[in-house]
Amino acid sequence: MCPSFNATKNEIDSTRGRARVLEELANGELIATWDDPRVTRALDLCLACKACAADCPAGIDMAKYRSEVYYRRYRGKVRPASHYLLGRLPVWTRLTATIPGMAAISNTAMKIPPIRNLAFKIAGIDARRQMPHLQSHLFNNWAPKHTCARKTSSVPRSDNGKKYVVLWADSFSQSINDEGARDMIEVLVLAGYT
Ligand code: SF4
Repeated sequence: MCPSFNATKNEIDSTRGRARVLEELANGELIATWDDPRVTRALDLCLACKACAADCPAGIDMAKYRSEVYYRRYRGKVRPASHYLLGRLPVWTRLTATIPGMAAISNTAMKIPPIRNLAFKIAGIDARRQMPHLQSHLFNNWAPKHTCARKTSSVPRSDNGKKYVVLWADSFSQSINDEGARDMIEVLVLAGYT
C-alpha cells in the first residue's frame, strides 16, 4: 500500500488521488498548468518508492509520472533548495566520506541546534527526525578487503571451489551508514561465499 496514504489517510495522498489530479492536468479542463498548486499538493508527499508500480494491475507508476511532472515544471528554472540538497545527497555524502575531516565537521555541526535546524529547514526535513551519523569512508573501499570466503567455512563449494555473490550497496550504505552492508558481508563470508 502507498506509504503516504497509509500515514495520512487522505485520498489525495493515495496513488488513486494523485492519478486523478494528473488526469485533470492531462485533459486540461480543471487544471491547466504544471505548476498548479493542486498538482504540487498531490505529489508533495509521494516518496517515489514505486510500491504502486508493483501493486497496480493497470501499471500506474506514480514515481515515473512525478519525475515527468517535476521535469516539465522546473525545466530551465531553479528548483527548491531541498531538491538539490536531498536529490544530490549521494554526491554530498560521497564528499563527506572521502574528504578527510569532512564527516567529523558535519557530524559536529549537526549537533549545534541552530545549524541543524537551518539545514533541516532548507532540506524540508521534519525537525523531529534524527540526523544520521555520517561515516568517514566509502563502503566500496572497505569491502574488497573483507569479502573473501573464509577457509574454515563448512559450506559445500561449487565446482570451481567458490560461490560468488554480488552485493550492491545503495547510496545510504555506501557513504552514510554501512553497518547493515557490513553485517551482510559477514553473514555471506561465514556462509562460504566470495
Ligand atoms: S511511488 Fe506510489 S506507492 Fe510510493 S508514495 Fe508515490 S504514489 Fe505512493
